[in-house]
Amino acid sequence: MMERITMAHGAGGTVMADLVKKHVLKHLGGSAAEVPLEALDDSAVINDIVLKSDSHAVKPLFFSGGDIGRLAVAGTINDIAVMGAEPVALTSGLVLEEGLPIADLDRILESMAETCREAGVHIITGDTKVVEKGGLGGCVINTSGIGRRNDALERNIVEVKKHRSFNTRWILDSNLKPGDKIIVSGTLGDHGLAVLSAQEGYNFGSQIMSDVTPLNNLIMRLLNVGGIVAMKDPTRGGLSNALNEWSEKSKVGILLHEEKIPVRGDVRAACEMLGIDPLEVGNEGKVLIGVVPEKVEEILTSLKETKEGKDAQIIGEATEDFSEVVLETVVGGKRILAPPIGDPVPRIC
Ligand code: MG
Repeated sequence: MMERITMAHGAGGTVMADLVKKHVLKHLGGSAAEVPLEALDDSAVINDIVLKSDSHAVKPLFFSGGDIGRLAVAGTINDIAVMGAEPVALTSGLVLEEGLPIADLDRILESMAETCREAGVHIITGDTKVVEKGGLGGCVINTSGIGRRNDALERNIVEVKKHRSFNTRWILDSNLKPGDKIIVSGTLGDHGLAVLSAQEGYNFGSQIMSDVTPLNNLIMRLLNVGGIVAMKDPTRGGLSNALNEWSEKSKVGILLHEEKIPVRGDVRAACEMLGIDPLEVGNEGKVLIGVVPEKVEEILTSLKETKEGKDAQIIGEATEDFSEVVLETVVGGKRILAPPIGDPVPRIC
């Protein structure tokens, strides 16, 4: 039987990773970039330019706490910022579906403009296409962006090197070493559950809102404190997918303390009702931070002083005792947190 694309191929778990490795990398890899396609990091780096491209196909276009426009800007900004780079400019490629109300387009563009103002970045080039009605859900937006080295990144690396060896110039998924501590900047699962509620018309008895937000200013603040070795935004596939990527690329085990992982009560209750794991659900305004143990309290304090980071927690550490991601549960047991097959919520970004 002919193999065809399924929704799971876009869900950010092991099915998507296999597709990218067996097909995309097979044909498109092979550059000499400093951080190449094969690294499958949040962005690439070539000639000291950080480069990222990200398409957004969230369904529906508007949901509690955000919309496709805010998502398209924040998503690309965050993938650039977690490399330790300062975002410089963005592009916007609009693919509009026949029948989309012009008023909706205006609302989306205004939201993109507002998110750009928050991030302090402009969209400076783009493209507009229209396709016939059917399946797109109104529009798809691609944003690409570039970022550059900056003083905060240099200061951060100087601080890391006071405590341990560090032989890369960027904040990469492969940088963790045993002993590094792991922080999450806030509650998990909010975005995925907000989009799921909008898709299905669920009412969870309280308003679960997306966390979608640009994190570049927060990240610059933390780099100025220093000691950060790895950062990642836990989007599709959630915390579970992001930490498994770190573990695989850094060749370390990761021990997580379940009682430290922040999940809102209403999100946890909704997940239990629906039989989904909040650790596998995507986020759009959170960052995972790997930091040398000597600086972890300072980074945590700095995070907690901000609106985006007020619920931050130290949730675990890298270890050489095993090679998987292991969750120490509230009752004291331990279980392997395997990478998810895919995000339980479709088309969240
Ligand atoms: Mg990312």
